[in-house]
Amino acid sequence: MGYLTDGLTFNVLRQANLKRLPTFKNSKGEPAHSEPDGSDWALSAWSNAVCGELGEAANLIKKIERGDTTLEEAREALGKEFADVVTYLDILAMRAGVDLGVAVVNKFNEVSRRVHSPVRLLNGGSDFYLLPPEEGP
Ligand SMILES: [Mg+2]
Repeated sequence: MGYLTDGLTFNVLRQANLKRLPTFKNSKGEPAHSEPDGSDWALSAWSNAVCGELGEAANLIKKIERGDTTLEEAREALGKEFADVVTYLDILAMRAGVDLGVAVVNKFNEVSRRVHSPVRLLNGGSDFYLLPPEEGP
């Protein structure tokens, strides 16, 4: 993760989410969670959070395409919604016992094999590579 950063990793995001969860407050200033790891929310609540943020992004895109604003004007806000999606998705994955980094590497490479693409993510996710032509996609 991170095109113009030093490379935010899934592990760093996970650790930051774990540290922040117990400090999260609702809009009334009350603790948002009774369990420090977010286990007080069902998987459906976390998936609703992911979908809610994706919906906020979709609403912005609707406004761009309707002509209310431009992509340039909305880019920062759109980025914030995408960031909300990724942040909640990490928590959802954690609550589901899924290592998001491993899952993305494995699924990316599975799809590459299926669509006969030579592009693979390196195990560990730190880079990508192309299969040499003799190995075929
Ligand atoms: Mg949001």
